[in-house]
Amino acid sequence: MSESHSRVAIVTGAARGIGAAIAKRLSSDGFAVGLLDLDESACAAGAEAITAAGGRAVGVGLDVSDAAGVEAAVDRVAAELGAPTVLVNNAGITRDNMLFKMTEQDWDSVLGVHLRGSFLMSRAAQKHMIDQKWGRIVNLSSTSALGNRGQANYSAAKAGMQGFTKTLAIELGKFGVTVNAIAPGFIVTDMTAATAERVGMGFEDFQKAAAEQIPVRRVGRPEDIANLASFLVSEDSSFISGQVVYVAGGPTD
Ligand code: NAP
Repeated sequence: MSESHSRVAIVTGAARGIGAAIAKRLSSDGFAVGLLDLDESACAAGAEAITAAGGRAVGVGLDVSDAAGVEAAVDRVAAELGAPTVLVNNAGITRDNMLFKMTEQDWDSVLGVHLRGSFLMSRAAQKHMIDQKWGRIVNLSSTSALGNRGQANYSAAKAGMQGFTKTLAIELGKFGVTVNAIAPGFIVTDMTAATAERVGMGFEDFQKAAAEQIPVRRVGRPEDIANLASFLVSEDSSFISGQVVYVAGGPTD
């Protein structure tokens, strides 16, 4: 990236899992990183680890589905680190259930975090990108966007992330801002550990069974996603926008 642009990134859901790996990777790529998550102390711990390794970071607690909290968090990152021109919308939750058992709360909270959260974060951050005529937004979708039993809410949210990505790419392209989505398959995190528990399997056995179905015969790691995020926020990806890249160890339908 040219030095004329700020090297400040925001990663949501950065306290653990994929978000933590992306925050760590972007820091080693030279970005100052705002780590945003529900738990302010977990964010602070992640930020301290980055600082201890020689980087610049700040941890900020927020609920990405709360408009006022989002504005305040983006302002705080801008004040403490500089104008953020990279945003990774990674915060996510699952509330899995078959349709007939799915509550309105299950539906609203999943769409609220993924879709409303990504909308609010992108709206708050884009002004910094427009000002600098440069920016990168990366949204976390999922292979579940293609349909997954017990995940009507999550699948709808993750398919929605793809439409959101393509539309922002169309609107923001002329300002030097690219917008892409990463759609992971099975990645070893607390989220997949919770799924194993829900279906009554030990996490090791669950991973083994999943790996057997994956062409490269292994499950994914958070770093597999961080590697692609690193490329998508770099200068080298400036002609790639509005794309959904599946990172699943094989093709998806
Ligand atoms: P994870 O380990 O559960 O971490 C998600 C993080 O998001 C948690 O730290 C969580 O905070 C935070 N978060 C939840 N709701 C939030 C809110 N309202 N505001 C701010 N932060 C919030 O999940 P992960 O597996 O790393 O997943 C990261 C992203 O990748 C998600 O969007 C997920 O849907 C997507 N994805 C994951 C997989 C996979 O196999 N793991 C596959 C496809 C897509 P708390 O800990 O406080 O709840």
